[in-house]
Amino acid sequence: MNQQAEYFDGQTAARYSVALRFDAAGLQISEDGINQFWPYANIRYASEDPDDRPLTFRCHMSQLDATRLIIADQTTIDTLRIRCPDLEDRIRRNRQRKRGVLWATAGTVSLGLIVWSSIHFLPRIAAPLIPISWEESLGDAVVDDIEGIFGAVTKGEVKRCETADGRLALDILTSLLVSQVKTPYRFTIIVLDVDMVNALAAPGGRIVVFKKLLSEATSADEVAGILAHEMGHVISRDPTEAVARDMGMSLVFNVLLGGLGSGITGAAGQALLSSAYSRDAEQASDRIALGILSRAQISPKGFADFFDRMSKEDGGVGGAMSFMSSHPPSGERAKAARNAVPANVQPALSDADWKALKTICGNS
Ligand SMILES: [Zn+2]
Repeated sequence: MNQQAEYFDGQTAARYSVALRFDAAGLQISEDGINQFWPYANIRYASEDPDDRPLTFRCHMSQLDATRLIIADQTTIDTLRIRCPDLEDRIRRNRQRKRGVLWATAGTVSLGLIVWSSIHFLPRIAAPLIPISWEESLGDAVVDDIEGIFGAVTKGEVKRCETADGRLALDILTSLLVSQVKTPYRFTIIVLDVDMVNALAAPGGRIVVFKKLLSEATSADEVAGILAHEMGHVISRDPTEAVARDMGMSLVFNVLLGGLGSGITGAAGQALLSSAYSRDAEQASDRIALGILSRAQISPKGFADFFDRMSKEDGGVGGAMSFMSSHPPSGERAKAARNAVPANVQPALSDADWKALKTICGNS
């Protein structure tokens, strides 16, 4: 059925009563002597306020620009609203855009505040609330990540060192240390074939040790001290908090909800590799480590010796991602370790096991 409207030709003050027909691509306007086609894409509001009734429309085409169509019927107006994609003129859109920008700015600011506060406060509050199984998933993703980072550097796969004897020796040492502390974590030590003196704790009890740390260590006691220290970080949930802080809580929740494959965390591994914990966190880990070593009757002198030796050596073992860069040597720390030597000590591993652990990568 044809709709009725009034039409101005823009040339005269004459007002025509016209019939409207909705064609597929536009509005057909017809009356005696008037026969126009307004494509839907060119129809605009001419009224300032689209709530006006009747409502005036114009056609955005040079030869028709002065013409006006005045429509009172709501159904006709609604049909035009549905069919015309660009009814709102530029002025109106600009006004709305400005309003939108204001809202968007306000939104960004408040989102920023939420993100900022979640980065600064939530990790500390939330880390202890994260179930251990979730931390374990996060830790696995981070370890995959670290392997990916070094794989990319060496343009190959980074080998996990697993000679049978070496693995056995590492398991003996790990269970000796873990049995000295009450913890819900199940520790997994991963040795990577990477020429770097470093070890780091990932969330959920994963500890990554780089090959060169083992080859630079002169005794199992030294390695025991470092592992115990990294266990301290895990127990304090430092790595979980660090990843949450660095990546934002959303990433943590992504991992937890299973939405994240390995490698996507990228920066999480990088963050753990290059980050240093606070002095307080380091001291807390040292305290946990000294307790573990003492109860295991392992001399913490090895831990102190390792620090002393590393700080004296130059070049090769340092670097941005070395253990020494995240654990700057401190006389205080070594002194604390030396003062904590228990009365009865025994080597952390037998000579044979130590040799096996040192050569767990099979090539040194
Ligand atoms: Zn540390």
